[in-house]
Amino acid sequence: MALAELAARLNCAEYKNWVKAGHSLVLLRAALQRFAGEQVQAFHRQLVARDAARLSPPGRRCSGKCAPRGKQFQPACSLCKEWKKEILNHHTHRTGEVNWGNCKPWLWPSNPWELAKAYMPRGKAESCGPDKCDASALLNLFSLCDHFSGIDQKKVREVIKCRNELMHSSDMKISSSWLKRFGNHVQNLLTEFQHVPEAQTAAERIEKLMKVAIQHLDDTCSQLSKAVVRLARYFNSLSSMTST
Ligand SMILES: [Zn+2]
Repeated sequence: MALAELAARLNCAEYKNWVKAGHSLVLLRAALQRFAGEQVQAFHRQLVARDAARLSPPGRRCSGKCAPRGKQFQPACSLCKEWKKEILNHHTHRTGEVNWGNCKPWLWPSNPWELAKAYMPRGKAESCGPDKCDASALLNLFSLCDHFSGIDQKKVREVIKCRNELMHSSDMKISSSWLKRFGNHVQNLLTEFQHVPEAQTAAERIEKLMKVAIQHLDDTCSQLSKAVVRLARYFNSLSSMTST
């Protein structure tokens, strides 16, 4: 029964749409990783250069006792207090919640990525660079940190909204019209990165995935579902042999 259900699932067009949308997010993430990493370093450099005496005073370090919990963070040292202030100054939702629990504050003066994580969804405490991030983390960074305000924020929000809908699809199925709309939003966002070669490559690959790859995916799925049917027959023959 389970194998028959799997065969049906692999033949389901709406499930294949869901797989394609998920893979588009993987391609989008790959397109934006290097850009995000470089920009986070530039952002950190700018903050420190603007006010080195406050954010990187010589000889002063956090004692390491400043430990945030979830959305709560009361700095125990004056250096972390200054960094917290600076992070909030560059937050696009000044009154919004910050997932401080993502960060190790004592690393803020020296590690740009620890700063970036303050603008990401929760659960990023162990992320140590853009190559360990999913598309959602990078898109939230672009949306919540004003260093990225040069990117059309409406385009960023559209893709975040679609990504959330995709992840909350309880039966892992999406319609072809939804997939088309999603593909358009992703392509729209990628136009913001004309200067990033990986983004142009991703745009081409996603376009192919949405059109040409349908047949390939269909072939792969039909081969898989045939294999599942063969397996089911094999198990049936086994059980009839043991029952006789
Ligand atoms: Zn501290």
